[in-house]
Amino acid sequence: MRSRPSDYHRGCGCSTSATSPRGPCRTSSLRAVPDATGLQPNEVDLDLFDVILDVRPSRDSASAFPGARHVTLDDLVKQPARYLPSMQTTTLIVCDVGQRSGVVAARLADDGYRSVHSLIGGIDEWRAQGKPLVHIGLTEAEAGRYDRQVKLREVGVRGQSALLASTVTVVGAGGLGLPAIAYLAAAGAGHLRVLDPDIIELSNLHRQPLLPLADVGSSKVAAVARYVASVNPDITFTGLEVELNAGNAESLLDGSDVVVDATDRFAARYAISDASHALGIPVVTGAVYRWEGQLTILEPNGPCYRCLFPDQPSEIEFDCAITGVIGPVVGTIGTMQAVEAIKLITGAGSSIAGRLLLFDALSATSTSVRVSRRDSCSVCNPPT
Ligand SMILES: [Zn+2]
Repeated sequence: MRSRPSDYHRGCGCSTSATSPRGPCRTSSLRAVPDATGLQPNEVDLDLFDVILDVRPSRDSASAFPGARHVTLDDLVKQPARYLPSMQTTTLIVCDVGQRSGVVAARLADDGYRSVHSLIGGIDEWRAQGKPLVHIGLTEAEAGRYDRQVKLREVGVRGQSALLASTVTVVGAGGLGLPAIAYLAAAGAGHLRVLDPDIIELSNLHRQPLLPLADVGSSKVAAVARYVASVNPDITFTGLEVELNAGNAESLLDGSDVVVDATDRFAARYAISDASHALGIPVVTGAVYRWEGQLTILEPNGPCYRCLFPDQPSEIEFDCAITGVIGPVVGTIGTMQAVEAIKLITGAGSSIAGRLLLFDALSATSTSVRVSRRDSCSVCNPPT
């Protein structure tokens, strides 16, 4: 978490507290700039921003703005709460010349966001003034390995670079976690962290086809480490034979860009959700019951897992050791978790956040229902 002395004020860039929440401070004269939320490059101290967003349409630039997350203009306007955790989040928006960022910053300010700024002159002016940019590019080996996804307009070199720089923590290396890990490793998620305390059992194999029969009785994390090293030794893998719980969740998940909840225990799901909410990390959560699967993303600003399921279901009632489960459905949901994680990191498309995807394999149907923050949620709306 960045420390900052106080918020920038809209339009002036000063740090006095004598300001109106809807306008520039009274102690500084507002320059006659078309973008009332704008900051000149020499007014920008990157350390003072909680969030920096890059709304350039092209993802193929060789330069990235330091600390910026790429987001499409459309996505930012439609779902600002996905990117700005609160109305007070100090935010800088950048684009090529400052026009697109100026429009969206003004729009967000009109919507009540109190500290959103655009970079006047955009990255072109930033570069012209000799300000730092991050060179992004792929090695020849990376360009070759990831060629087919880099060719996608929504990924490009910038998206691939973001993937290679990302840290993804997968909690659970079972039926959901294994396909998620396999696709994230293959896609070049730069640092994969996997948490699972279990050993491989014979009854795991029907839904965990990446595990060889010879590994039955050995550590899941060790087997996953061997698998990842065999398919993509260029990424960093950290495996921990540890059971996540409410007491250790924050320390285990801290530093992640995305958490993939691939557990099969409700207690762990609540712990993941609570810790990620506190840490400001999105969670791609998936679950399977018999022939049915479900998937959503828990954004840091909600809804959280407690919003969706305020009362903890019975662990026994949903234990696949009792109910049974069909393997490919688990693999489908786990694979979709990898897709959503990749989208979050690269900024591609629109995520499943705000919707719960429901897949019924027996009837070959899928649907999604809207989910939202629950007023009575003790995490999203703690008593004051
Ligand atoms: Zn909640």
